[in-house]
Amino acid sequence: MTPAEEGSAAEALAAPEAASNPLASERRFAKALVFTPHPDDAELSGGATMAKWASEGTEVILCVVTNGAMGSNDPSVGREELIATRQAEQRAAAGMLGVSEVVFLGYEDGYVEDSHELRRDMIREIRRHRPDVVVGPDPSMFYFGQQYMNHPDHRRVGEAFLAAVNPGATTVPLYRAELYDKGFEPHQVKAVLLSLTTNGDFTVDAEGFMDRKLAALRAHDSQLGAWEGLEGFVIGMAEMIATSSGTGLRQAESFKAFFFD
Ligand SMILES: [Zn+2]
Repeated sequence: MTPAEEGSAAEALAAPEAASNPLASERRFAKALVFTPHPDDAELSGGATMAKWASEGTEVILCVVTNGAMGSNDPSVGREELIATRQAEQRAAAGMLGVSEVVFLGYEDGYVEDSHELRRDMIREIRRHRPDVVVGPDPSMFYFGQQYMNHPDHRRVGEAFLAAVNPGATTVPLYRAELYDKGFEPHQVKAVLLSLTTNGDFTVDAEGFMDRKLAALRAHDSQLGAWEGLEGFVIGMAEMIATSSGTGLRQAESFKAFFFD
């Protein structure tokens, strides 16, 4: 997202279509694997949740699908320099949230397809880390409200993500030579949370973790450093999500949830 787009998406992000369950958000997880299309998406949609989980003892792993190479319109900024900068920013942001490991898949920013290669790589990371909860973008989001059209990388990462969870992670014959035959045993996750969505039905209390979320977002200096309204936007979005959830919370993040246990 660009700051201008994000500002206009705030109200839409804060309007979940399904009723939220305040009890569900108190669920604890042992290990979380969070897929993000670009560096900064995961923090924007779920930075407080990641920080909260880490503070509760959940091991949080972040998997960044693209290399972020489209993150500058300045022709003088070199491609490899920008990729390195964004990796460093992502590692710094992850550290502020308590994320224990960052995996970079290196797909080309702006050109992501729901490919078998991407599905295979996502399945591999699920089978390698064996999380009980996985997080990835909602692929059904073509647009938010009247002013933000979703980035195509977000939708396509979301499509590949759902395919990687079901049937990918549990099905031995899929990509067998590259996965099962190389020691990547099937894995059934217990919960799936879709991020970057207006379909949220799983609300997480973000109060007490917004400072860390904001610090992590500010770590993406090449993308967000010039956005003076960042803090107001992020706090306002958390308040609107909380209000819309009907949970009585003051600041929140929300996801569309699926449970398999
Ligand atoms: Zn993005």
